[in-house]
Amino acid sequence: MEHTELWQHVLSEVELSVSKASFNTWFQHTGIQSKQDGVVFISVPNSFAKEWLENKFNKFILKSLRTISSEVKDVKFVIAASPSPLTPQKTKKKKEEEEKEIALDNQFEFAGVDAETNLNSKYTFDEFVVGSSNELAHAAAISVTKNLGTIYNPLFVYGGVGAGKTHLIQAIGNEVLKMHKGKKVKYVSSEKFTNELVNAIQNRSMERFKEDYRQNDVLIIDDVQFLAGKDKTQEEFFHTFNALYEKNKQIIISSDRPPKAIPTLEDRLQSRFEGGMIADIGYPDYETRLAILKNKIIKKQVVLSDDIVEFIANNFQKNLRELEGALNKVLVHMKIAKNPLSVEEVKKILYPSIHTPKKNINVKQIIQAVANFYGVQEKQLIIKTRKQEIVKPRQIIMYLLREEFKFSYPSIGSKIGGRDHTTVMHACEKIEGQLKEDESLIEELNLIKKIVYNA
Ligand code: ADP
Ligand code: MG
Repeated sequence: MEHTELWQHVLSEVELSVSKASFNTWFQHTGIQSKQDGVVFISVPNSFAKEWLENKFNKFILKSLRTISSEVKDVKFVIAASPSPLTPQKTKKKKEEEEKEIALDNQFEFAGVDAETNLNSKYTFDEFVVGSSNELAHAAAISVTKNLGTIYNPLFVYGGVGAGKTHLIQAIGNEVLKMHKGKKVKYVSSEKFTNELVNAIQNRSMERFKEDYRQNDVLIIDDVQFLAGKDKTQEEFFHTFNALYEKNKQIIISSDRPPKAIPTLEDRLQSRFEGGMIADIGYPDYETRLAILKNKIIKKQVVLSDDIVEFIANNFQKNLRELEGALNKVLVHMKIAKNPLSVEEVKKILYPSIHTPKKNINVKQIIQAVANFYGVQEKQLIIKTRKQEIVKPRQIIMYLLREEFKFSYPSIGSKIGGRDHTTVMHACEKIEGQLKEDESLIEELNLIKKIVYNA
C-alpha cells in the first residue's frame, strides 16, 4: 500500500479520538517519509510535534499501522524541514479571540455556583422567559415551590438540548431557598451523582453518602438519562428516591426524553418517575427567543440594534445555549471593534455557527451544485490542476463536505481525487478565513447551499 494511503488511514483513526484543535496542532504537515525493515519513518514539522507524538501517540499509530500492514514493527519520528503555509500571526490572533470568548462564556457559567447546594444563582424564575413552549413546565415548577413534596412528586421535566431544563429546575431550588429559610436543597447532575457514589464505594463512605442525600428537603437530579445502563447507580438512586419520597420530600428530575424512552431504565424507576408529574419543554418560538435576547442585553447593559437582535433570534432556533453563545460572540466582537456593528458584519461573525436544516443530501449533490454554480465540469474538479477557476470551487467543495458531513480530512481528500489531508485542511482553513472578510463569498455559499438543499 502507498505511503499516503497508509497515513490517511492512521489519520482518520486519530481524528476520531482527539479534539479538532489537537488534531490540527499535532498532525498538520505530518506524513510517512519512508519505510525500512519494518520501521515506518514519520515526518513531522518540528521538535514539539516530535516529542508530543512520540510520547502520546507512538502506540496508537503503531497499532493503527499494523491493522493494515502487519510487517510494521516500529515507528520513528523525523523532523522534516518544510515551511508551514500558515502565517503564525493569524493563528495567534484567532486563538486569542477564541480564548476571550471562552473566558466570557465561563464567566457567566461558573460565577455564582454554591458549593453546598450546587445551585447557580443566575438560574432564577425572574430570568426565565415564559412562552408557549415552556409554560406548562413553568407552571408546574411554580406549583412545586408552593407545595413541596405534596402536589407533583416527582416533577419530571424533559426536553431537547438547550431547551431550558437546567435553568428551570435550578430556579425551583433557588426559589425554595428564598421562600423557605432553612430548607435543604441539593442539585446534582446524574454524572456527579454517579461519581460521588463510585467514590463513596471506593472510600468506604457509603453511610455518609446515603445520609447526605437522604437529609434533603428538595433533591434535584439533572439529565437522568445518563443513569441508563448503570445498574449499580440506578439501584442506589432508587433507594435514595424511595427514602425521600416516603418522607414527602420533593424530588425533581430532568431528562432529554420521557421516562418510557430511556433504554435500560429499570422498570421500578420508570414507574416511580411516571407516578408524578411529567412536563415537557419544547424549543421556544421566535417571540420567546427575542424576549430572551432582549433580557440578556438589558442585564449586560449593552446596546444592540433591533435588526441585529432579530437576526440572531431568526438564525438560532433551537438550542438556547447557542442563541446565547451567538449573542456573546457578537458582544465580544463589539468590544474589540469599539464601534457599532452592522448586520452585515454580524452575519460574517456568526456565519460559521449558523445551522442549515439538514436534509438527506450526498457528496455528489454538493459537487454538482458547486460545479453548476461556478460553471465548471465536475470531472475537472477532481483532476489535478492548479487553474485558479478550478482551485476555488474545489476548496469550497472540501469546506462544505467538512461542514455539512463532518467528514475526516483524509476521507474528504480521497473523495476529491485522492488528495492529501493537509491539502484539505489548508482548503478548509482558507475558506474559513475568507468567510470572515469576504461578503460575496458568504452569499455564494448561501446560494450553493440553497441549490443543494432545495434540489
Ligand atoms: P438544557 O438544560 O435544557 O440543556 P439550559 O437550561 O442549560 O438547557 O438552557 C440553556 C441556556 O439558555 C441557559 O443559559 C439558560 O439560562 C437559557 N435559557 C433557557 N431557557 C430560558 C428561558 N425560558 N428564559 C431565559 N433563558 C433561558
Ligand atoms: Mg441541562
